[in-house]
Amino acid sequence: MSEELLYAGKAKSVYRSDAPDELVVVFRDDITAFDGGKKDVLSRKGEYNARVSARLFEVLEKAGVPTHFLRLEDPTRMRVRRLAMVPLEVIVRNRAAGSLVRNYPFESGQPLAPPLIVIDYKDDARHDPMVNDEIILALGLLGRAELEEMKGLALRVNGVLRGIFAAADLDLVDFKLEFGRDDEGRLRLGDEVSMDSMRLWSRETGESLDKDVYRLGTGDVLGAYARVAERLGLEM
Ligand code: 5GP
Repeated sequence: MSEELLYAGKAKSVYRSDAPDELVVVFRDDITAFDGGKKDVLSRKGEYNARVSARLFEVLEKAGVPTHFLRLEDPTRMRVRRLAMVPLEVIVRNRAAGSLVRNYPFESGQPLAPPLIVIDYKDDARHDPMVNDEIILALGLLGRAELEEMKGLALRVNGVLRGIFAAADLDLVDFKLEFGRDDEGRLRLGDEVSMDSMRLWSRETGESLDKDVYRLGTGDVLGAYARVAERLGLEM
């Protein structure tokens, strides 16, 4: 591969492409949890996340949400627009789970209506601390109008994804998004939208079909990812 590696994250690698304003994201088979404290390699995991992300980015673009997605070049390589990423993790929660239940007196599964938006500063060494609007503005990460725009986009993504997953008999409990600015300064959804970054509960059985299966060591992670892909109508 002639492309130069620009960045290797925990589960994806980003390469320069033949076009200056486009990059190639390769979804690897690595899976990690607890800020990289637990690590494994699962054959075909990259493919599941790449294919599901590509499908969801396509649906989001059609619904008017600007994303970095251009096309899937092969089962694990995604061609994207280059973005200057904003180091924030925007988490939308439809039900209480995970850190919200650990840190606050919510019941697991408690519906949150309207959905909660929680924003973390993306920094593994600091364990992604939660920030508020004032901290984001004081750090100069976004202007006030951009911050509102980012939250509005996150809620629009939630509306679209909830509908898609409900039709697949899956309950979208929560998910994490990352945004960046394109060459024109426009905010776009970047990174990935996959089972690695969301909680999906089966509506029939309540079981998790997402990375919690790996975090909690409760079963067959790849089998769970395959079931989500299948329910979205992807032939793998
Ligand atoms: P929690 O704050 O409960 O750990 O996570 C809330 C949601 O955001 C979950 O769906 C979780 O998968 C996702 N999330 C939070 N932080 C990260 C992160 O650093 N990486 C990934 N991939 N997902 C995250």
